[in-house]
Amino acid sequence: MQTYDVVVIGAGHNGLTCAAYLGMAGLSVKVVERRAVVGGAAVTEEFHPGFRNSVAAYTVSLLNPRIITDLHLYDQGLKIVERRAQNFLPTPDGPYLLVADGQTERNIAKFSAADAARFEAFSRALDANADLLRGLVLEAPPNLTRGLNLGALREILKAGRFGNRLRALSTENLRTLFDLITKSAADYLDGWFDSELVKAWLGFDSIVGNYASPYTPGSAYVLLHHAFGEVNGKKRTWGHAIGGMGAITQAMARAARAQGVEIETDAPVREVLIEKGRACGVVLADGRLVHGAAVAANVNPKLLYTSMIPEGVLDPAFRHRMQHWRCGSGTFRMNVALSRLPSFTALPGSEGADHHTAGIILAPSLAYMDRAYCDARLTGVSREPIIEMLIPSTLDDTLAPPGAHVASLFCQHVAPQLPDGRSWNDCRDSVAEEMIDTVERYAPGFKASVIARSALSPLDLEQVFGLTGGDIFHGALSLDQLFWARPALGYADYRSPVPALYHCGSGAHPGGGVTGAPGHNAARAIIADRRRRLR
Ligand SMILES: Cc1cc2nc3c(=O)[nH]c(=O)nc-3n(C[C@H](O)[C@H](O)[C@H](O)COP(=O)(O)OP(=O)(O)OC[C@H]3O[C@@H](n4cnc5c(N)ncnc54)[C@H](O)[C@@H]3O)c2cc1C
Repeated sequence: MQTYDVVVIGAGHNGLTCAAYLGMAGLSVKVVERRAVVGGAAVTEEFHPGFRNSVAAYTVSLLNPRIITDLHLYDQGLKIVERRAQNFLPTPDGPYLLVADGQTERNIAKFSAADAARFEAFSRALDANADLLRGLVLEAPPNLTRGLNLGALREILKAGRFGNRLRALSTENLRTLFDLITKSAADYLDGWFDSELVKAWLGFDSIVGNYASPYTPGSAYVLLHHAFGEVNGKKRTWGHAIGGMGAITQAMARAARAQGVEIETDAPVREVLIEKGRACGVVLADGRLVHGAAVAANVNPKLLYTSMIPEGVLDPAFRHRMQHWRCGSGTFRMNVALSRLPSFTALPGSEGADHHTAGIILAPSLAYMDRAYCDARLTGVSREPIIEMLIPSTLDDTLAPPGAHVASLFCQHVAPQLPDGRSWNDCRDSVAEEMIDTVERYAPGFKASVIARSALSPLDLEQVFGLTGGDIFHGALSLDQLFWARPALGYADYRSPVPALYHCGSGAHPGGGVTGAPGHNAARAIIADRRRRLR
């Protein structure tokens, strides 16, 4: 039997971040991970001999700079580079939109001079709100408390500080904030732009991992959620970690180990150990016990509360609520090995061009995205899916043999659970084929260039990575599941209904994405509680 100050369930990037901060504070920590590799959804794996890729999460922006600094991730070998163009939106046989430093407005003007003229004001409004969010990600939201005690006073003060931050926004920016958290992305973007391709570019972020139409109320928030990041100090920019997303989590694991953290892989947790009402360790699937004065769970809250907490511990109403925690992305993820770069009808040519380093969005309008969602709701798959293709080997020669390439295909929408009792195990291959055919429509010859492919359906994302419902964020980013309601009202401070059990994964504020923020914030709560107990 082993005993630690804290046991962390799961070595996703948040579990590793939490563990590293706890280690820095001098606590003894053990991380137990179900898979053979650390990193959760942020991993690099060889999916075909000689071809490696970020097999799930594929691009970096949201990773908090403070965490990079505190964990010395650059000293641990992490290197993040910018794409030479941010986005490229080709149409199958017509024009294209290229988004790149110093060219964006000029390229927007090809479609609409009015849109180009409005772009700067749009960016300013989005930046002001992204800044607000950026200021909140490394803090626990004000938590709902009852009664009047020291804890309640602390939360009231915190709510006051939050209110003050809102007061600091101009009325116009406050109006934008309300729009962004309540409106659909389509309604929001329609208020700014006319061009379909421009709205598709900006609207794509609203449906990333979000099983919804860009016309669904609340989808504008998901757009904002993708705007609070930066690459090497450049805000709202997406980049690439050399070696893939696994380079981030490998650096985090090294940072944690350097602080004395023990990490055990192939060690699935069966149950949280609870004695006298307090969490005090975990039971592993092989029956071993790992004791800890506290437990931090990096897993989806639905998984935690419906399968890892013994019967009878939780209040039935709370358990019922977590059973209905909304999980499920419309995401189908492919990794492909390519003999050559694609040549797009809209912008032919294949070697060394900036657009090949971009997030290539195959979805030319918001209406197209809406149809993809409606199809998936009706039949389980879209006739014309939305795909973002990224070819990281254009920026990183460690991923593929010379002359060859790897691409990520981030495909949507598919239904997390197929209708009519069909299993994803029976449909994976045909849907993968459809995704390749979709790229082929934009880049003839693509299909012939595919040397090998691997496909992850929502069921695979659940079974391989432990992502309940294939949800890439550990729970939908909707207003009822955000901020002080993530993962539940009264438990937004990383604590849980079970004393000494904490949430350190994306199911806690600020939600999904490779941010490290929930891990950082949970460590702070654990350290604060420990100090209080020791006093
Ligand atoms: C296909 C896909 C694409 C994405 N693209 C991006 C992107 O490009 N950029 C971005 O910023 N974000 C992206 N995301 C979102 C982002 O990757 C996740 O939100 C984030 O990685 C979640 O991190 P986490 O540490 O909270 O949880 P996870 O990474 O899910 O880690 C949880 C860990 O717990 C482990 N675990 C589960 N059950 C047990 C158990 N019983 N015992 C022990 N361990 C267990 C899991 O194996 C896993 O390692 C993507 C996600 C997916 C799936």
